[in-house]
Amino acid sequence: MQILDGKLAAQAIKDGLKLEVAQLAANGKEVPHLVAILVGNNGASETYVAAKVKACEEVGFKSTLIRFEASISAFKLLDTIRDLNGDPEVDGILVQLPLPDHISAEEVINCIDPAKDVDGFHPSTVGKLVLGQPTYIPATPYGIMLLLEYYKIETKGKHAVVIGRSNIVGRPMSVLLSGSGNYGNATVTICHSHTKNLKEICATADIIVAALGRPGFVKEDMVKEGAVIIDVGITRIDDSSKKSGYRLSGDVDFAAVAPKASFITPVPGGVGPMTIAALMKNTFKACALKHYDGFLIQN
Ligand code: NAP
Repeated sequence: MQILDGKLAAQAIKDGLKLEVAQLAANGKEVPHLVAILVGNNGASETYVAAKVKACEEVGFKSTLIRFEASISAFKLLDTIRDLNGDPEVDGILVQLPLPDHISAEEVINCIDPAKDVDGFHPSTVGKLVLGQPTYIPATPYGIMLLLEYYKIETKGKHAVVIGRSNIVGRPMSVLLSGSGNYGNATVTICHSHTKNLKEICATADIIVAALGRPGFVKEDMVKEGAVIIDVGITRIDDSSKKSGYRLSGDVDFAAVAPKASFITPVPGGVGPMTIAALMKNTFKACALKHYDGFLIQN
């Protein structure tokens, strides 16, 4: 069994980006600028946004964090996004989800200029992804594809089971793995809360991507010997022995499953860092698109 070390792979990607940013700067070009919007003070969202801002610093991007109280009106938030859409100094815009109940995430996502949609959630971005056209790939599935590429894990002709069909993880993941691009060409089964015989389906998988948000859900008896296991889940579990008061748990029972797996991602240190590295790549593309007329965003 080999650990798929997301920290290591993410660092390699960030190191590459750092060089490219230095080259942009040396050519007198503006460096990529990511704007993150955080509404309210959800603990997990605070952590994710802080990690994104830190990654921008690491690779030499400019970043701006805009914070709003949870009580902000949808009108004000949308107005801010429209201003950022029109600001030539902003390359990428991300609005950290979840949003307070009174604000429609759909409306907010739809408001972001697709050219600056570095999270890859806009309907136009998703449509292009499904059609196999060049576009931004949602950061988490993109990060997983980059991890498969880093470790040269063959997907062609394999049976991949994706557990979870969310718009940000499971569904785009199934599109990428079943697509004809690099690290695609798998036969994909997508499972959700109404799937019957999920255990039996998983047991036939060469690759399992678990993205359901149920700690330790994937057990040893659901996994074929030699399967590749990608654990996307991140759930905070109360733990008084930790300074933070919680520990992070993935969707896979790591201790039981790892001995059967050929490759497995840890939580933390697997998909999480790759998601951030992928966001950095998308932001770099957004900036390159602006600098080089006609530059195509490549998948
Ligand atoms: P989500 O929107 O809540 O979607 C969960 C999906 O799992 C849904 O499609 C749901 O089915 C399915 N599901 C739930 N219980 C199930 C069960 N018992 N059996 C089969 N399917 C089940 O979650 P998400 O946003 O995709 O996130 C999933 C997990 O990944 C969370 O832990 C989240 O924190 C984590 N995450 C991590 C990263 C990262 O960077 N590592 C990024 C994003 C998310 P239905 O559609 O039928 O309800």
